[in-house]
Amino acid sequence: MLKTVANFDRIGEENAFAVLARANALAAQGRDIISLGIGQPDFRTPEFIVEAAIKALRDGHHGYTAANGILPLREAVASSLHKRYGVEVSPESVMIMPGGKPTMFMSILMFGEPGAEILYPDPGFPIYRSMIEYTGATPIPVPIREENGFAFSADETLKLITSKTRLIIINSPANPTGGVTPKAEIDKLVAGLEKWPDVAIMSDEIYDHMVYDGEKHVTLLSYPSIRDRLVILNGWSKTYAMTGWRLGYAIFPAKLYDYARKLAVNLHSCVNASAQFAGLAALAGPQDEVVKMIAEFDKRRGVVVDGLNKLPGVSCIVPKGAFYAFPNIKGTGWKAKELATALLNETGVVTIGGPDFGILGEGYLRLSYANSTENILKALGRMGEFLASRKAA
Ligand code: PLP
Repeated sequence: MLKTVANFDRIGEENAFAVLARANALAAQGRDIISLGIGQPDFRTPEFIVEAAIKALRDGHHGYTAANGILPLREAVASSLHKRYGVEVSPESVMIMPGGKPTMFMSILMFGEPGAEILYPDPGFPIYRSMIEYTGATPIPVPIREENGFAFSADETLKLITSKTRLIIINSPANPTGGVTPKAEIDKLVAGLEKWPDVAIMSDEIYDHMVYDGEKHVTLLSYPSIRDRLVILNGWSKTYAMTGWRLGYAIFPAKLYDYARKLAVNLHSCVNASAQFAGLAALAGPQDEVVKMIAEFDKRRGVVVDGLNKLPGVSCIVPKGAFYAFPNIKGTGWKAKELATALLNETGVVTIGGPDFGILGEGYLRLSYANSTENILKALGRMGEFLASRKAA
C-alpha cells in the first residue's frame, strides 16, 4: 500500500468541472446540451490580446521570467488599480499568478494548520473549503443569505471570529450567488477587524468588473487599516475572457509576498511568458470589448431572472454582480442536486446544484448566464416544461 499523507484524503473538488465532463460526454453522444454550468465567459479573448501573445513568442519571449512576473505587467496591474479605485499599490506587492486559484491555494496554505480556524462564505467557491480542509484547519462557514441579497453580513462574520481565527475569506461580487456586499457592510467589517489585528483577510475580487445597476465595486484595498494583512485575489480569467490562459495576480503584504514568491519558485517557477505579455496588452489596450461583454451579461441577467421567476416553484432575486443567478427552488419540492441531475439527463440543460457550494446551498441552483440569450431562453423553456410535468423524485 502506498502511504500518502492524510491531507489528500480531505482535499475536495469543484463539481462544476465534473458536470462539464458529463455534459461534454452527453454532447458527444449527440444530445442537445445547453450549458449554464461552468463559470466562464462565452466570449472570445479580444483579438489584440491574442496577437500580443503571438508577438511575444515571435519576439523570443519563450523563456522563464522572474517568479513573481515581469515588471511591466506588475506595474500595469498597480496602475490599473490606481486608475480604477484611486488606491496606491506598489508593483513590489503584485505577484503574477497562473490564474486566480493559486492565490487562494497559497494564502490558505500560509494560515491553515490543525487548531487554526478559517472563515469562508457558504454558499461560496468550493475550493476555499477544500483547501482549508486540506491543511487540517477548521473551516468555519459564514452564512450567505438570500434575505441579505446574498451579501455577507459584517456582524455575522465578526461574531464567528475567535482567538483561533487566522484568516477570513470574503468574495464580492460572489460566486455562486452573484451577490454584491454594500460598502456600508464592508466598512463595518473592516472597523470590527481592527479589534483582531492578527487575523488576515483574503478578498477574492475576481469579478470586480462585473457589478451592475450603476454601482461600483468596493475593493478592500481602499481600507488602509488592514492593508498590512490583506491579500487580494484577482486576474484576467473573467474580465478578459481568458480562463484557459491561466493568468491572475495577487497583492500580498511584504512578509506573505516573500512566502508566495518562494512557493512559486518551488511550484511553477513562473507564469507562461507569452500569457504575461497578453495580460499586459489587455490592461494597456482598449477596454471597449470588456465593456460590451459586461453590458451583454447585464442584458442576459434580466432575461434569466425574469424567466426563472415564471417557473413553477422557483423564485430568483436579482443578482447584482458576476454572471450567475442563484434561484430558490424550494417550492418545486426537488432537492437541488437531484434537480440539477434530472435537468441535465432529461432536458440537456446544465446547471449546478447549490450544495456543491456549501451546506447552505441546498434549495438553490446556480445558473451561469455566460451563454447566448437564445440559449438561455431555450433552456428556461425546457426547465419550465420539465417542472410542470415532473414531480420531485
Ligand atoms: N474565485 C472565484 C470566486 C471564482 O469563481 C473563480 C473561478 O470560477 C476563481 C476564483 C478562479 O479563477 P481562475 O480560473 O482564474 O483560477
